[in-house]
Amino acid sequence: MTERRAQIEAEQARARDAARANRPSRDEAMAAVRTLIRWAGDDPEREGLRGTPDRVLRSYEEFFAGYAEEPLEILSRTFSEINGYDEIVLLKDIPFESHCEHHMVPIIGKAHVGYLPDRRVVGISKLARVVDIYARRLQIQEKMTAEIAETILHALEPRGVAVVIEATHACMTTRGVHRPGVGMVTSQMLGAFRDDATTRREFLALVGLGS
Ligand SMILES: [Zn+2]
Repeated sequence: MTERRAQIEAEQARARDAARANRPSRDEAMAAVRTLIRWAGDDPEREGLRGTPDRVLRSYEEFFAGYAEEPLEILSRTFSEINGYDEIVLLKDIPFESHCEHHMVPIIGKAHVGYLPDRRVVGISKLARVVDIYARRLQIQEKMTAEIAETILHALEPRGVAVVIEATHACMTTRGVHRPGVGMVTSQMLGAFRDDATTRREFLALVGLGS
C-alpha cells in the first residue's frame, strides 16, 4: 500500500466517524422535512403530505447510500493474471444519478472509466460500483470525476487513468438560468492519459468524444 493511499484511507475514516457522530435521529430528520414543507408554503399535516417525511427519508437512504461504502475497499480484490494485456481497459456509458451539493437536486448522466493496467486488473463491474458509490453522495461533477480517477489510481496503480463524465444538472435545467438540454462534460486524465497525447486521443475516440 502506498503512503498516499494510506493517507487517503485515514482521511476518509476520520470524515466518516465525524459524520456518524453528528448524525441526527430519524425523528429529527422527519421534523426537518416537515419544516421544509411548511417553509415551501404547505401543510405537512394534510393527508397527501402526511407520509411524505418518511418517504423522503427512505429516498435519501437510496440517494445517499454511498456514504456507507468505501470505494477503495471495492477495488481491493484485484487480479494479476493478465497474460501481458497492456492496452486500455474501458467501461463506457455507466449510467448514474447523483445530487448536486449546492442545490440538492439531481445530476443525471453517464461516466466513462478507463485505465492502462500495470500488473493488476479489477473485475469490470467494480468500476461501475465505484461510480455508483461516489454518485450516491452530495457532489459536484468536477469533484466526482477526480475522486473516481484518484481511487482507481491508488487501488490499481495502473499506468494511467481516464475518467470522463457527461451529465445534465437539474439545478441548471429546472431553476436559475433554466437551460434544458445543456450538458456538462468533465474529464480527469492521470498518468499516461495525461502525458501521452496518442493514448488520450485513443481513449477519447473510444468513448466517442474524439475529434
Ligand atoms: Zn446545483
